[in-house]
Amino acid sequence: MQKGDLLYEGKAKRVYLTDDPTLYIVEYKDTATAFDGLKKEELTNKGVLNNSIAALFFLMLQGAGVPTHFIKKLNEREMLVKALQIIPMEVIVRNIAAGSLSKRLGLAEGAPLACTVLEFNLKNDELHDPMLNHYHIQALGLATPQEVARMEELALRINDLLRPFLEKRDIILVDFKLEFGRSQGEIFLGDEISPDTCRFWDAGSGEKLDKDRFRRDLGGVTDAYAEVLRRLQEVK
Ligand code: UDP
Repeated sequence: MQKGDLLYEGKAKRVYLTDDPTLYIVEYKDTATAFDGLKKEELTNKGVLNNSIAALFFLMLQGAGVPTHFIKKLNEREMLVKALQIIPMEVIVRNIAAGSLSKRLGLAEGAPLACTVLEFNLKNDELHDPMLNHYHIQALGLATPQEVARMEELALRINDLLRPFLEKRDIILVDFKLEFGRSQGEIFLGDEISPDTCRFWDAGSGEKLDKDRFRRDLGGVTDAYAEVLRRLQEVK
């Protein structure tokens, strides 16, 4: 398998073609961004950490029957994935109030939610990723009702798998973002699961182990990511 041309460069990753049209290579960059790309910094080793963390999450989910794009880790920064046609929506899963939900609904950060909350956002930095309801998704032709139902089912199943997996490692899964894509008529989990795309709080101290350390200038960003990787690698 040969690495081909750059297909797409995002804020945190690059996607390359391969000589097999059904496969892409994803390279994790050290760039950290927040606030739709307004805040930007290079954090040495972040890409290496996120590649390993995402690979471990994908393996766990795949083992539990969740269809993901992950095929294998190739090296420190790269993974081989199934080529998907990405649906340009973010699927957000929330277990505890934080971030934009706290702001929008006036909830204290850390406030419990009586049920898991799912949200859809349009992936569009210029528009600040506006929230979508089911009507918007149909009106914009982003995904069929069947695809939306499948993404909801998978997002909830992923939450049910990740929560206890992380709890065993003394990490509370506050919220996270997923992206899905199509391949041969089926929906697969794409993108990444990492401290860039999740809120992880230490179960004991409540300390943030995720990108909020970068967003809020708390320092120790990559140390926190390394701590997440260390806990994931612990045999439990
Ligand atoms: N998130 C993400 N990318 C985005 C927006 C959100 O990965 O473009 C993740 C974020 O890290 C958090 C969850 O989705 O784990 C919910 O984010 P929220 O809506 O609170 O937005 P933010 O605080 O990033 O504005």
